[in-house]
Amino acid sequence: MNFNDFLSKIQHKFSDKEKALLEKAFVFAGRAHQGQKRFSGSDYVSHPISTAQILGEIFPSATTIAATLLHDVPEDTKTGIDEIKKEFGVEVSALVDGVTKLGKVRLRNSKDKYYVENLRKMFVATSKDIRVILIKLADRIDNMRTLQFVKAEKQKRIAEETLEIFAPIANRLGIGEWKDELENLAFKIVYPEEFKKTEQSLIQALPDREATLKQLQKEVSEILRVEGVKFERITARIKRPYSLYKKLPRYDNDIYKIYDLLALRVITQSTSECYAALGAIHKHLQPVPGRVKDYIALPKPNGYRSIHSTVFDKNKRIFEIQLRTAQMHDEAERGIAAHWSYEESGKKGELHQMRVQWIEDLQEMQDQVLNAEEFLRALKFDFFQNRIFVLTPKGDVKDLPEGATPIDFAFSVHSDLGFYMQGAKVNNKMVKIDHVLHSGDVVEIVKSKKPIKVSQDWLKQVKTSMARQKIRHYLEENQTGIFNTLKKMITRKK
Ligand code: MN
Repeated sequence: MNFNDFLSKIQHKFSDKEKALLEKAFVFAGRAHQGQKRFSGSDYVSHPISTAQILGEIFPSATTIAATLLHDVPEDTKTGIDEIKKEFGVEVSALVDGVTKLGKVRLRNSKDKYYVENLRKMFVATSKDIRVILIKLADRIDNMRTLQFVKAEKQKRIAEETLEIFAPIANRLGIGEWKDELENLAFKIVYPEEFKKTEQSLIQALPDREATLKQLQKEVSEILRVEGVKFERITARIKRPYSLYKKLPRYDNDIYKIYDLLALRVITQSTSECYAALGAIHKHLQPVPGRVKDYIALPKPNGYRSIHSTVFDKNKRIFEIQLRTAQMHDEAERGIAAHWSYEESGKKGELHQMRVQWIEDLQEMQDQVLNAEEFLRALKFDFFQNRIFVLTPKGDVKDLPEGATPIDFAFSVHSDLGFYMQGAKVNNKMVKIDHVLHSGDVVEIVKSKKPIKVSQDWLKQVKTSMARQKIRHYLEENQTGIFNTLKKMITRKK
């Protein structure tokens, strides 16, 4: 693929400067990955190219797309992050570095039952820059789309990870389109039998769905026309297999009790038109009692806004109607990416604001939280804002308070490791033992053969109560030792 083909697939008008950056990254990635192949047999670079296109669809930021093109370079080629920094600057290289670090996290096989939950949070907390997560999600979508070329066993592991970690993150960030695609691609592989069954029952329950949807569309647009309600367009959707599969058990596994198999989306220009359209539809089509959900007045925690209602059409067919403005629709598909201005005006400080903004967005979402479960989840999330997540060399995640040092890390790995700590490496570089750790750091403790002498100063260099307790205990014991010797000496003298 040449650069112009690549660019033409991203629906966005870039400035000449942005185009130059993208072309440079495109060429650079091509050169770095030269000779490498994917499991499919195609050139490796086709992966970062597809990933960049997936990302560009929802977040057409030139910097972020450039970083996406380069996202596998440090990990998989001889070209290092320093060279990327030299060629593309701090911003692009920080994004690439963030993606590389996230790639080192071991996602499964932990005994900790809260592992997955922690991991989701780590994902979010580590990447102070949400763009890193967006790149990682786009990366996963491309990997899922091309999963058939991978060995069956690996397919399953990747698909499970996708269901447990990546899809929930996409959901948390409100990126409906990505969440749906990730879930459905993974569903097929993780639960092949259930997938087949769910698809079959969908076909059975909706034998001529395309025709039905067309009729409903016509019916509803006629009602809106008669009532004089303005709208932009009406789209239709059929419930996705994974979402149906998750919903069925709550409805006695009876597909006929699920009323949103078919849904029409009325897209309007203004919020008041949404309410007007709802009124008009209810006037003509009988609503099911107690099924109006106003997520415009009370948005979902992930920011989703829409009005949902369930109605019968003239032929007593039941379906869901969703009403939202064009902006709400865009936000429902692109989530947090839609909240961002990706104009790269070069103004300083804007980037910082973007980072802060996304945390504020999440807090705002939490303020709108409705049920206890969501509230708890939000609360936990908040808690994790003051934590850092560092990795062992094997990729296990350690959760520490902000300001923690390698000493805290050592005691968190093993209760005695701190007493054998000769030194510490962070991201492969030797550091002082009171070095302040940051999220995403890979920390390695250099062990001595014999226990070392712990100094009083250590108490000032730790943040965790676990480490402090251990050190204090050690110091007390050793003081007692001296005291005892002194006592013996004194006694002997007598
Ligand atoms: Mn990749």
